[in-house]
Amino acid sequence: MKKIASFTVNHLNLLPGIYVSRKDYVGDEVITTFDIRMTAPNKEPVINTAELHTIEHLAATFLRNHKEYGEKTIYWGPMGCRTGNYLLLKGDYESKDILPLMIELFEFIRDYKDAVPGASPRDCGNYQDMNLTMANYEAKRYLDRCLYVIKEENLVYPE
Ligand SMILES: [Zn+2]
Repeated sequence: MKKIASFTVNHLNLLPGIYVSRKDYVGDEVITTFDIRMTAPNKEPVINTAELHTIEHLAATFLRNHKEYGEKTIYWGPMGCRTGNYLLLKGDYESKDILPLMIELFEFIRDYKDAVPGASPRDCGNYQDMNLTMANYEAKRYLDRCLYVIKEENLVYPE
């Protein structure tokens, strides 16, 4: 089998950031897949499952309710390696286009203190696997060291 595009990214020098992972053409529409990378792969600790799961519930809820991007949101989900998330949006975008949206999203997660949406046995397959305090922490860390001070190297994949 052929190596898929996301495995050809050089993870050795990959920094936290926002990257365009791929663009897919479905009929006349373009779907942009973003790599929302929160930790440096193989150099820093990965995000624990409970906080990544909490980030998933909060991000999906926030994005699908967003007045501009709600209708464009196809998918948000965690990476299996637990160093970040994938976001799929309808439309043709560059990584910097969604920086304001990601700041808005991660400020929402950083400041969120209520019950996690969908964290119930009816709505989720592992509803007790949540850690809101650490999700708040991870969102703040991503904002402070990456999104608020973003550089070109955090927006374009390394060679
Ligand atoms: Zn869940």
